[in-house]
Amino acid sequence: MSRLAIALDLGGSQLRAGLIEESGTMLRRNSMPTPANAGPDIVIKAMAGMAKDIAEGIEPHRVAGLGVSSPGPLDTELGLALGLPNLAGFSDFPLRDRLSEATGLSVSLENDGIAAAIGEWKQGSGQGLSHLVYVTVSTGIGGGVIADGRVLRGRRGMAGHIGHMIVIPDGAPCPCGNRGCWEAYACGPAFARRASERLGRQVDAESVFRSAEAGDAPAQALVAEQADILGIGIVSLLHLYSPEMVILGGGLLHGFSLLDAGIRSRISRSAMPAFRDVRVAKAALFPDSGLIGAGMLVFGTSQA
Ligand SMILES: [Zn+2]
Repeated sequence: MSRLAIALDLGGSQLRAGLIEESGTMLRRNSMPTPANAGPDIVIKAMAGMAKDIAEGIEPHRVAGLGVSSPGPLDTELGLALGLPNLAGFSDFPLRDRLSEATGLSVSLENDGIAAAIGEWKQGSGQGLSHLVYVTVSTGIGGGVIADGRVLRGRRGMAGHIGHMIVIPDGAPCPCGNRGCWEAYACGPAFARRASERLGRQVDAESVFRSAEAGDAPAQALVAEQADILGIGIVSLLHLYSPEMVILGGGLLHGFSLLDAGIRSRISRSAMPAFRDVRVAKAALFPDSGLIGAGMLVFGTSQA
């Protein structure tokens, strides 16, 4: 019988669980709302409960371990959550050890952006590539980098916090406490806020995409602007990492077909000529890129 990984994806709003084969196939999947304000004890209990439920009826010796994708910043060398913006009480919290105690399983912990990059690399849009950058655009902006056929982790495993590249000196405030970060302009809420101000009524990203698709000129202008802001950050990622592909995931990607041309146009204007032919693709596994990547960690397949 093949070995299986239990994977958990701890998000600010959703807690997802998967039972994953070494081939990357997800056999079972489950989700629940994250008890984000209840404190770490309750969250650990919920995660352990989901891990147990998803493996119900599976002989314990088949379970190779538990892979966990969590928002950062994390110190993945020490297994610590250093301070999770959307989860109360997770400050210097020993997430890996507490989950291991609660489940009796060995735990592999990874930043959600890096986990999703691994998922897309191993099973999604980036299969077979040696160099890619994954970018998630949702409540915030996160990412993960595969370079030279391996996962780029950096000091304390904290590489890839691409949303906090400063694009405007002393610009708009960012949830990280700084000003002018790419995330502060390009994340989903920033897009919705800009659209609401411009249109003079409360709108969400989805409705702006729908209006743009229906030919509404102000909505199309907002989408073009959003694509350009995304493109500006992506140009820097091309120059920094020289990926073969930039993979976009996250909630805002429902509008990918509308954003694609504007992103490409910014790349062709601002990237150095040798970088302009890099592909920009949609995450194939969305919304499960991180969950599948977390499962892949258990099998030690994060290295080529
Ligand atoms: Zn920031």
